[in-house]
Amino acid sequence: MNIDMNILISGLYIIAAVFFTLGLKGLGHPRSAVGGNLLSAVGMLIAIVATLLNSQILSFTWILVGIAAGSLIGTVIALTIKMTDMPQMVGLFNGFGGGASVLVATAALFEAVGVSAVAAATLSLQFSIATVLSALIGAVTFWGSLVAFGKLAGIVTEKAVRYPGDQVMKALVGLAIVTFAVLLVLNPSNLLYLWILIGLSSILGLLLTIPIGGADMPIVIALLNSYSGLAAAATGFVINNAILIIAGSLVGASGIILTQIMCRAMNRSLLNVLFGGLGAADDDSGASADDIYAGKVKSTSPDEVAMILKMAQKVVFVPGYGMAVARAQTAVRQLTEMMEAEGIEVEFGIHPVAGRMPGHMNVLLAEENISYDKLKEMDIINPSFGNTDVVIVLGANDVVNPLAREASGSPISGMPILDVDKARTVVVIKRSLSPGFAGIPNPLFAADNSLMLFGDAKKMVEELVTAFKEA
Ligand code: NDP
Repeated sequence: MNIDMNILISGLYIIAAVFFTLGLKGLGHPRSAVGGNLLSAVGMLIAIVATLLNSQILSFTWILVGIAAGSLIGTVIALTIKMTDMPQMVGLFNGFGGGASVLVATAALFEAVGVSAVAAATLSLQFSIATVLSALIGAVTFWGSLVAFGKLAGIVTEKAVRYPGDQVMKALVGLAIVTFAVLLVLNPSNLLYLWILIGLSSILGLLLTIPIGGADMPIVIALLNSYSGLAAAATGFVINNAILIIAGSLVGASGIILTQIMCRAMNRSLLNVLFGGLGAADDDSGASADDIYAGKVKSTSPDEVAMILKMAQKVVFVPGYGMAVARAQTAVRQLTEMMEAEGIEVEFGIHPVAGRMPGHMNVLLAEENISYDKLKEMDIINPSFGNTDVVIVLGANDVVNPLAREASGSPISGMPILDVDKARTVVVIKRSLSPGFAGIPNPLFAADNSLMLFGDAKKMVEELVTAFKEA
């Protein structure tokens, strides 16, 4: 049987693309997300097998070495990574995607111009432009993602780093990039232009990400995710690979949509985040923690909270990053079931940027099979806090900080928050009065209707379960 290999590969790529699209559709709803993920993985397997059928592959040795090394590193990371470190890993993986695009573009250009001067002269415009874009976007993504990784991992300050003339600096680097990009397109055999372009794009990646701080990081991570897709799509044009173009475009487009959702959730415009220096406010712009908290913070005990819960008709949990760190969701489910058994209505208020990655809280609560009907988005639940007896703020901070409502120039000002302070009683479970990701104090902790239950989220909710049973 004589099958034309190219037709077979193209056919398999189309099937893989269908799997990717169906997978993305599945990821659109929590209920179908696991299935969607599986479909995408199958699509990727088909795409890899199809690529390995390519007759241009002369030797499988290095491919096998790459597969073995990648599988080993991936397995070790997957087995050892803590759930709470996932966001920075995702950030890093975006960066690897960008880095890979730079390497492929560089290799392709080397190969093309290395053959002969005649070959270099006949390079198509598509190839040259795609190579330039792949190197440019890839390098910005790689270095930008490294900074984002560092900020999330606490290696680099999560504060916005600003300096005089930073916008001018970015503009100048941008201008230089455009100049060398044009030069390289016009003269692809001059590899010096490529090195300069990669160097300048790397600097731009650093310059664009370092000034973003405070609570604006989710937007940047979504944007870098989109960039990594665009870089991959450009690389697809460099090596004429249809599935890379399709998959890269899907990642690029979905990343942009996620960026928009995040911008809306934080009431930011993308341009403002990238160039306006929001989140760059002085840390001393507002009252100090001492002024806000002095003599006003009331601490409570699990026994007292259990009594308050017993008398409540409606309780809302507002989970945040601390719930993820402590892995308190199992205890939360137990407490929820016990309260519901006593006729108390329980809901969850989910802020779009709670935790450290989009959908972080939904994933953790879904692990516990907590019904999606109970998870209420910010816009839906906010009007009902006035009728809520008790809100339990579990390891959340920035997403319930009333300072966001004030135009004080604080890193979170203007960001919509969950209006938990409107509830009759607010119980805040956290270990101390330490700030959240944005690094600012929270007047909620000193409010008249707030009680602080100091301790690890998991331990405290477990003690609440015991106290609720005994109350
Ligand atoms: P925050 O980071 O504002 O606050 C988390 C709180 O959890 C801290 O104040 C900490 O206080 C507490 N905490 C930590 N460990 C524990 C523990 N073991 N038990 C109990 N409490 C604990 O979290 P939010 O979820 O409210 O807000 C998310 C922030 O992260 C926003 O600023 C958002 O912009 C940012 N961000 C979000 C991303 C996303 O995609 N969702 C990505 C990047 C950043 P204490 O130390 O006193 O216990």
